[in-house]
Amino acid sequence: MSRNTALITGITGQDGPYLARLLLDKGYEVSGLVRRSSTPNLERLERLGIRDRVRLIEGDLGDGGSIINAIDLCEPSEFYNLAGQSFVPESWKTPVQTGDFTALGITRCLEAIRLIDPEIRFYQASSSEMFGKAQETPQSETTPFWPRSPYGVAKVYGYWITINYRESYGLHTSNGILFNHESPLRGLEFLPRKVSNAVARISLDLQKDLQIGNLEARRDWGYANDYVEAMWLMLQQDEPGDYVVASGETHTVRELIEIAFGRVGLDDYEKYVVVNPDFYRPAEVDLLIGDASKARAKLGWKPKVGFRELVEMMVDADVELEKTKLAVKQNIL
Ligand code: NAP
Repeated sequence: MSRNTALITGITGQDGPYLARLLLDKGYEVSGLVRRSSTPNLERLERLGIRDRVRLIEGDLGDGGSIINAIDLCEPSEFYNLAGQSFVPESWKTPVQTGDFTALGITRCLEAIRLIDPEIRFYQASSSEMFGKAQETPQSETTPFWPRSPYGVAKVYGYWITINYRESYGLHTSNGILFNHESPLRGLEFLPRKVSNAVARISLDLQKDLQIGNLEARRDWGYANDYVEAMWLMLQQDEPGDYVVASGETHTVRELIEIAFGRVGLDDYEKYVVVNPDFYRPAEVDLLIGDASKARAKLGWKPKVGFRELVEMMVDADVELEKTKLAVKQNIL
C-alpha cells in the first residue's frame, strides 16, 4: 500500500505544526504550503522539533496556480486547509483581503483538487465565529449561522463552498466547525496567549500591566493539540461530513486571568489588569458554546486537556520562553 501523504496549508500557524506532528507520528509524508516572507517564519515547527521532517512548498491562497503546483509536487491523499487571515479584529481592518484568502482561497484549493485529483480528501478549517449572534445555545451542526465580523462572513462562504463541491462533484470534503483552541504556539495577538505571556512577563518584572477588553466575555476554549486529532479523524471516515469540535464548557476572560496569575503566585490579579475599551470588538459575538456530541458519537473524539490545565500549560511555557529570551539577552550584553 502506498504511503499516506498530506498537504497542509497554514503549516506555520498554530494548528499546522500540531497537525503535522500528529500525521508524521502516524507515518504520513507531510508537506506544507508556505508563503514567502522577508524573514523565515518556521519558529513553531522548530519548537515542536519537526522543521526537518516536513517538506515546505512555496505558495499562497491568493494564487491558484501555486496551489496546483503544490499538489503536483507532493501528490497528497489528504489536503488540510488551515491557512487564512484568522484574527477576528484584523478582519475589520482588512475585510477585502480577509475575503480573498479566507473565503475565495478555499475555492482555489477545491478547484485545484477537482482538476488534478478528485480522490484527494479535503478538510476545511471552519469556525464557531460563523454562529456569531447565536441563534441557539449550545451551537451544533444544525444551528443557523449569523456571522458578526468579516472573518465570520468569509468562513461561512468557505463552509458552504466546501459542501457545494461535495454535492456538485462528489468530492470527499469535510468541515470542522472548531471553537476557540489555544496552546503555547498561539499567536501573541490572541487573548489567551496575550494573557499567558503578559502574566509571565509581569512575574519576571518585564512588564507592568495587562491591557484587556471585556472581562466578562465568555468563550468555549480547548487545547489545539486535541483539536487537530478531530481534523484527522474526519478525513478517515468513509463519508465526508461537518462536525462541531468544542469543549462544551465556557469560561470568562476574568476566570482565565485569575488562573493565569494564580499560576505564578500573584493572587491579587486585579492590581495588574487595566480594562481598555480599545480592545472591545465593534460587534461582539453572543455566548458561543459548542455541542460536540456528533464528533463524540461518530468520530469517537473528545478533548483530553481541560481549561485550567490548558491555561497553566500556556503560562508555564511563556515563563520558560521569557526566561530563555532574558538569558540570551544578558549573555549578549
Ligand atoms: P494562525 O495561527 O493564524 O495561522 C494561519 C496560517 O495561515 C499561517 O500559517 C499563515 O501563514 C497562513 N496564511 C495566511 N494567509 C495565507 C495565504 N494567503 N496563503 C497561504 N498561507 C496563508 O491560525 P490557527 O490558529 O492555526 O488556525 C488554523 C485555521 O483554523 C485558520 O483558518 C483559522 O481561521 C481556523 N480556526 C482557528 C480557530 C482557533 O481557535 N485557533 C478556531 C476556529 C477556526 P504566515 O505564517 O505566513 O502568516
